[in-house]
Order: sequence, then structure tokens, then C-alpha cells
Amino acid sequence: MPHPFSSRRMQREARTAEAMIRRFCRDHHGDTPELCEECSQLLAYARKRLRHCPFQEHKTTCGNCPVHCYAPGKRDQIRTVMRHSGPRMLLSHPILAILHLLDGLRKPRSQG
Ligand SMILES: [Zn+2]
Repeated sequence: MPHPFSSRRMQREARTAEAMIRRFCRDHHGDTPELCEECSQLLAYARKRLRHCPFQEHKTTCGNCPVHCYAPGKRDQIRTVMRHSGPRMLLSHPILAILHLLDGLRKPRSQG
């Protein structure tokens, strides 16, 4: 698979989003290896937003970002996911969770 992201940071960002969506789906939509339709659409959307993020590796976390790039419906959806999976990430993916907390302290800076 080609790397669709501009940097390791952005790839990690996508991995974090995926881990959170997977956790949410497993806890709410059934314990199957595949994401349900709704959650796989949300993940595809999140990856698309990341690819178009104007800050790229200088971004803060999406929750702390001054730019609201999600469509309102998707924004509510992802917030519900983050509220559920955010705290649980510390146990299931401690390294991603801690790096994500640190990323949230960055000041966003646009490219160029
Ligand atoms: Zn689901």
C-alpha cells in the first residue's frame, strides 16, 4: 500500500484515529474483525481530512485544532468516538495515547 500521508507523524495520527474508531465499534457494534459500515465510513472520512489538513506534521490533535474541518454530522460522530475511546487508549495503546497527549500540546503552524 502506498503511503498516503506526508510524514510519520501523520501516519501515526491516522493509526491513532483508527485504533479509537475500532475500539468504539467493537464496544458498540459487535466484536467482529471488520469495522461496521458506519465506522469504516467514518475512518475513511477521518483519513481524508488528515490528508487535506493544512498543518500536516505541525498539526496539534484534532480535538485541539482551531480549524473545524469536519462536516457537522461527522464531527459529532468522531467526538462520540473520542469520548469513549480516548480514556481507554491508555490501557490498550499506551504509546499512541501518550504521544497523542503530547501532540495536543503543540501549537499548530500551517505549512508554507
Ligand atoms: Zn461500528
